Amino acid sequence: MNSVTLDFRIEPNAHPVARDVREGLLVDPGFGRIFTDHMVTIRYSVEKGWHDALVGARGPILLDPAASVLHYAQEIFEGMKAYRLADGGTALFRPQANARRFRESAIRMAMPELPDSLFLDSVRHLVETDRDWIPAGEGGALYLRPFMFASEVFLGVRPAREYLYMVIASSVGAYFKGGAKAISIWVSQDYSRAAPGGTGAAKCGGNYAASLVAQAQATEMGCDQVAFLDAAERRWVEELGGMNLFFVFDDGTMLTPPLSGTILPGITRDSILTLARDQGLSVAEAPYSFADWRADATSGRLVETFACGTAAVVTPVGTVRSAEGDFTIGSGHPGQMTERMRAALTSIQRGTAPDPHGWVSRLD
Ligand SMILES: *Cc1c(COP(=O)(O)O)cnc(C)c1O
Repeated sequence: MNSVTLDFRIEPNAHPVARDVREGLLVDPGFGRIFTDHMVTIRYSVEKGWHDALVGARGPILLDPAASVLHYAQEIFEGMKAYRLADGGTALFRPQANARRFRESAIRMAMPELPDSLFLDSVRHLVETDRDWIPAGEGGALYLRPFMFASEVFLGVRPAREYLYMVIASSVGAYFKGGAKAISIWVSQDYSRAAPGGTGAAKCGGNYAASLVAQAQATEMGCDQVAFLDAAERRWVEELGGMNLFFVFDDGTMLTPPLSGTILPGITRDSILTLARDQGLSVAEAPYSFADWRADATSGRLVETFACGTAAVVTPVGTVRSAEGDFTIGSGHPGQMTERMRAALTSIQRGTAPDPHGWVSRLD
C-alpha cells in the first residue's frame, strides 16, 4: 500500500504571476505570505480510495459548510522545505521521514494513510512545477505544506468517509528576521499543549489551536515564543508551540526531552541528535524539569538552549520568563554549540557538506 501510484494530471496555471512580479516578491519573502502558482490535490473516499491526483492552478477551494473538518477538526499537515543546492540543483531534506510522519498523524486522527509514494510524488511534482519560486537569498527555500482534511458532508460524529489531500508551497526567507538572534521564551504554567493519550505526537492543526492562547500570553509578556510543560505534573519542559528544545551543558553534553507521546517527533530534532552523535558528542533523551533549567542556567552548568524545527532551523534561546521571574541562558546571546549544530545541518541541506546518511533527496 505504500507504493501505490497515480497518474498526476498536470494543468498548468493559465495566469501565472509574471516573472518580474515574482522576482520582486522573492527579494524579501518573509514567511508564509508568498504562495506559488500551483497546488496539488488528491481525493479520497472509502469507495474509491485515493483518486484524482492533480497539479493545477493554486486557488480557493469550495467547501460545503457541513464538511466535517469544520466541525470536528480532522486535519493533519506537514512542513518541509525544498532547497537550492550549491551546485544549482534542487533537493528535499529527508522527505521519506515527512511521508511516514504524515501516515502516523493520520492513524492518530482516524484518517486514511496516504501511501508514501503518493506523498513523495505530490511534493516532487509541485517543486518541479514551481521551482522558479525558490528565493536565491540566504535562508531562502520553498516551504511545502502538505495537508489533509475531512471533506465529507456529514454532521454525525465518526471518522469521515471522504478526505481532500493538498500540497501548497510558499517562498520563504529566514523565519526569524535578523538571523540567529537569541529569542525569549515564556513558560506557560496555565495552559497545556498536549496530554498523555492525546494528540501531541500528531502534526494536527488542533494542537496549534490549543497553543495559541498561550502564545498570545507569551507575546503579551514581551516574549517571542511559548514553552509548554507536561500536562500531568506541570514540571517537565516539553517543547515550544512548533519547535523542539535542546539544552547544552558546560561539559559539552546535550539533552532533549524524550518522545513520550506528548512531544512532536521533529525531523530536525532527530537530525541534530544524529549529527551530534556523529561528532562524538554525548546527547541524552531525558526529562528535564523547569526547576533544573532555572537552577542550571543560574549556576552556569547550563550554557545554551536552542529550539529547532524545519521553519526556523536552529534558533538560540536567550532569556526565559515565567510567572516566577526571568533567567538568562549563558550570555543571553547565541552560543557556540547552537551555531555548530545550525551550520552542520544547513551545510548538508545546501549540499556544501557530505551527506553520510543520505538525507538529501535530489529532484533532478
Ligand atoms: C512540526 C513541529 C515541530 C518540528 O518538527 P520538524 O520536523 O523538525 O519541522 C516541533 N514541534 C511541533 C509541535 C511541530 O508541529
